Amino acid sequence: MSRFLSSRYKDIAPYKPGEQPKGGTLLKLNTNESPYPPSPAVIAAVSGGISERLNLYSDPSLSALLAALAKRFDVSEKNVLASNGSDEMLAFCMLAFSENGFTAPDLTYGFYPVLARLFSVDYRVLPLDGSFKIRTGDYKNLNTAIILANPNAPTGEFLPVSEIERILVSNPNSLVIVDEAYVDFGGESCAPLTKIYDRLLVVGTFSKAWSMAGARIGYAVGCEGLINDLQKIRMSFHPYNINSLSAAAAVAALGDEEYFADCRRRVISTRESVSERLRALGFKLTDSLANFVFCSHESVHAEYIYEKLRAQGVLTRYFPGGRTGEYLRVSIGSDMQMDEFIEKTEYVLKSGGMKI
Ligand SMILES: *Cc1c(COP(=O)(O)O)cnc(C)c1O
Repeated sequence: MSRFLSSRYKDIAPYKPGEQPKGGTLLKLNTNESPYPPSPAVIAAVSGGISERLNLYSDPSLSALLAALAKRFDVSEKNVLASNGSDEMLAFCMLAFSENGFTAPDLTYGFYPVLARLFSVDYRVLPLDGSFKIRTGDYKNLNTAIILANPNAPTGEFLPVSEIERILVSNPNSLVIVDEAYVDFGGESCAPLTKIYDRLLVVGTFSKAWSMAGARIGYAVGCEGLINDLQKIRMSFHPYNINSLSAAAAVAALGDEEYFADCRRRVISTRESVSERLRALGFKLTDSLANFVFCSHESVHAEYIYEKLRAQGVLTRYFPGGRTGEYLRVSIGSDMQMDEFIEKTEYVLKSGGMKI
């Protein structure tokens, strides 16, 4: 730390992203990326004439991308905005809608409290129940903004759209932000509800189901007033927040719904077969509708499994301490990758690490 850092940031604990190891030797099941490349249309779009125009600024009005997003969500272009990854959109939300603070479940995406701390936003949590489910009944007359990842991370638990609507109804003075990073793996989007509720904002990303984590594209869907507020923050912070290559990539991806649907189907089918095999090995799992499973073994410590798998070249995600300390989060790769994961897990389970 230098002596020039503003005192308000001195004790900040930044977000710790999952490891991105150099070289390609580890089987990466730690950051919920897609095992599949983006659509061939995406690859064609970024290798075309667009790169010759990198001398020009990207389009600050994002017109092609917003038109494509509006089409996908069946809303007007005034009801969508895009960002540099959805993490940036979440930051815009924290800046724009922070007046009365935020409420979130106690176990959720680790970036929310980090952003809240960065922007000095009051951040409160409500406990999950014993099986990691959100207790919707607790969300009543909160008078703060509410942020929910749905499906939640790192549990994968999905809250039906009717339950989101219940939260909206029980909190007439709250903006409800639903982070749908994982919604395309079997959940249902509440984007259509944004036409009924002007207090609902849906945030999404191209990082998971669209196989484009490296392109950094996120978006929001909501009523015109909310989108204008976010636009005001964006234009006061970084009007060229999306580079031309990524914008072209996202437009091309949105044009290839068939490829998107195929990747999602494959991930869902692999998740279901891996879940079954893990159960047969003595794991219990949350009800994940995401592209990962969250699992705990009946007799072997999660940290032990995590470390032994890593030594065998398989990288999973382990969140030490608290209620997550006995769980591993494992991203869903291809069938072949998951065969390797299961095989190595079987080996590790035989090697020790027993709970007393
Ligand atoms: C992965 C993830 C995101 C996506 O972040 P990007 O910045 O779009 O890559 C957002 N929210 C949750 C809950 C996530 O797990």
